[in-house]
Amino acid sequence: MKIAVLPGDGIGIEIVEEAIRVLGALDLSFETETALVGGAAYEAHGHPLPDATLKLAKEADAVLFGAVGDWKYDKLERSLRPEQAILGLRKNLGLFANFRPAICYEELVDASSLKPELIAGLDILIIRELTGDIYFGQPRGRRSAPDGHFPGAEEAFDTMRYSRPEIERIAHVAFQAARKRSKRVTSVDKANVLETFQFWKDVVTDVATEYPDVELDHMYVDNAAMQLVRAPKKFDVVVTGNMFGDILSDEAAMLTGSIGMLPSASLNASNQGLYEPSHGSAPDIAGKGIANPLATILSAAMMLRFSLNQPEAADRIESAVKHVLAQGLRTADIWSSGSKKVGTREMGDAVVAALSLSTIKKTTTG
Ligand code: NAD
Repeated sequence: MKIAVLPGDGIGIEIVEEAIRVLGALDLSFETETALVGGAAYEAHGHPLPDATLKLAKEADAVLFGAVGDWKYDKLERSLRPEQAILGLRKNLGLFANFRPAICYEELVDASSLKPELIAGLDILIIRELTGDIYFGQPRGRRSAPDGHFPGAEEAFDTMRYSRPEIERIAHVAFQAARKRSKRVTSVDKANVLETFQFWKDVVTDVATEYPDVELDHMYVDNAAMQLVRAPKKFDVVVTGNMFGDILSDEAAMLTGSIGMLPSASLNASNQGLYEPSHGSAPDIAGKGIANPLATILSAAMMLRFSLNQPEAADRIESAVKHVLAQGLRTADIWSSGSKKVGTREMGDAVVAALSLSTIKKTTTG
């Protein structure tokens, strides 16, 4: 098993280090190879996704990614900005399905800004289409407006588009995921206004006929944004397009208390995947040793489950994370009075220690 390790920028470096230590504490053998990506790659090689990094990612069974970006790169031309590395990886690896589970751990119910009764026991899965929609549609650019309210004025435009096969494949992913959960899918669209999303709704409805055991409902994105904070537990699997998924998955992340807790997986048709925390490079806290590494550690668990066929090892990591939370250990982002504040390294140490506990338990219980 070969893992391409791309820590990136800011806290990416600190949190990936902890995830690698946790993987190293498992009794599995991996080959890991680390490469630069994002701002770090731009500084060293003049491009956020150098050819060597892309080659490594393509050849590996899975990619463990930290985060990229820093405000100091905001003035660079768009194609050279660190965030372009993520888009390039998604496109080149064909990573069309993004899984973002939003789980509220019992111990962190008080870390959410919502009332405990709304989020206790929350376990939803947002599946976002990742390689289409307005983020990739052509044409796009700036021009002199040919028509509209101000003909001749400078304007900018993007193109929202989805083809039938693109919608079909993400719908299949969602229905299949729902079969392993509570067999409910909510497809989020904006069919009342956008042609692209009327088409999305029609195609998802067609695919649903192949899954008669799964209940499908449709919801407009504005209503979904509202329902996510009003009654989030009503959702189970949510499937949506690239832009709506980008926004709703961050909203769902905050339901659970901190974006520092949420892993994600982006998969292609052959289950090769890129695994990363849902948050960014957090330049405001980078280098301080206070970032929460748990989202990245949980992303490594998703990697073991989805791409490396090691579900037991994934379970062990997830149990170890629950164990350290039950011990009352908290990084600053999830800290509340009465719990013990720890830094990035101490949190990693605690997960590693909890993993060895699970091995001992396994041995003694036979
Ligand atoms: P961010 O997610 O980096 O940070 C938002 C807030 O959450 C900050 O206050 C930060 O300190 C906090 N935070 C994030 N992760 C945390 C963690 N693990 N532990 C504790 N606190 C955490 O988003 P931003 O500030 O909007 O963006 C910063 C940079 O990251 C930008 O350059 C942006 O483009 C980039 N970005 C990258 C990715 C990615 O690599 N996938 C995703 C989003 C943003």
